[in-house]
Amino acid sequence: MVELSTRISQIQASPTLAISAEAKRLKEEGRDIIGLGAGEPDFETPQHVKQAGIEAIQEGFTTYTATVGIKKLQGAVCTRFKEDKGLEYQTDQVIISTGAKQSLFNALQAIINPGDEVILPVPYWVSYPEQIKFAGGRPVKVKTAEEDGFKLTAQQLKEAITPQTKAIIINSPNNPTGAVYTKQELVELAEVIVEEDILVIADEIYQKISYEQDAISIAALGPKIKERTVVIDGVSKAYAMTGWRIGYAVGPQEIIAAMGRLQSHSTSNANSIAQRASIAALLGTQEPTLEMKEAFDQRREIIIEGLNQISGLKAIKPAGAFYLFVNITGLVGKTIAGQEVTDDQKLAELLLQEAGVATIPGSAFGQPGYLRLSYAASEEQITEAIKRINSLLNN
Ligand code: PMP
Ligand code: GLU
Repeated sequence: MVELSTRISQIQASPTLAISAEAKRLKEEGRDIIGLGAGEPDFETPQHVKQAGIEAIQEGFTTYTATVGIKKLQGAVCTRFKEDKGLEYQTDQVIISTGAKQSLFNALQAIINPGDEVILPVPYWVSYPEQIKFAGGRPVKVKTAEEDGFKLTAQQLKEAITPQTKAIIINSPNNPTGAVYTKQELVELAEVIVEEDILVIADEIYQKISYEQDAISIAALGPKIKERTVVIDGVSKAYAMTGWRIGYAVGPQEIIAAMGRLQSHSTSNANSIAQRASIAALLGTQEPTLEMKEAFDQRREIIIEGLNQISGLKAIKPAGAFYLFVNITGLVGKTIAGQEVTDDQKLAELLLQEAGVATIPGSAFGQPGYLRLSYAASEEQITEAIKRINSLLNN
């Protein structure tokens, strides 16, 4: 038997990607599966963005670029940050990576020493704890309350901080809950962060998908919080570009430069063609993004209303992203299709096998007793999924 490193032995594969792959596999086998598991827009990349990628290929823009990304794309990120978040940065404070996931990975590698603690509000996106552990850090999981809209309070943050605390990850709009922190909530968190002198990783990949009000960047609340924050963002969700693999980190120059050194020895630059397409996405018309948000908003109405009518299920209306986080504790212990619903994982399995609906169990996000449903699916699929779930659970 090969002996793997202790570092890698602590890491589990991404359950969101695994369940999405399983749903795809069943579909290919001819099963009628509705995929509400995958967290990716079901829209195509806008035409003008595709065109920019085609032109890059035709012009022979197919060689290495600067490790940290092409200057024009770094500049385009600065433009969007100024317009969308009210944040001013120089291009040397921007690194372009192979997806926001890599930016996040590099940022954690750049700031964590062995034994450093990183505060992680629960529920959390699946990759955070694994990436923290891989960097040698310790995820400190702090449970948020459904009554607080699954948002960490300043008091909870204060109580979780120890001399070992290095950073906190704030993900707003949130995956998996759809929670969006208000300005006041962020101000209160920022006060504690500045006072305790810790860093923030602000994952704002869903910033453009916020329905009730514009999602605010914590870095925009003042110079003291800005100098402690690395903002993570990317084109995957806002421009329906998950497969192009372009994300970025923006923040203090020393951290960004350190991330660049790491990237220069791992993946080098992000794909040159995708970088060119991303310039078109960021500097071109933002209309497609607004249209997609509108569509997600309509689907949000359909799914929340449909789900909440099913007895045993309960969900709060998400303010952002495209996920519904459904409380299923009312079903635990019940018998469905001849089998006992022991927990959220069992329910997700039953929904997939018996109703052909793929979902992600809350335990993947550190919160058992829930299911995450992605509503980045067509209205017909959502309506059909609700029908199937209802008939499975109430028969
Ligand atoms: N952060 C969150 C919260 C996400 O849901 C995702 C989606 N996979 C990412 C980061 C990474 O996005 P990507 O690597 O596609 O840019
Ligand atoms: N972020 C998406 C999700 O949570 C994509 C899957 C992944 O990258 O883990 O489903």
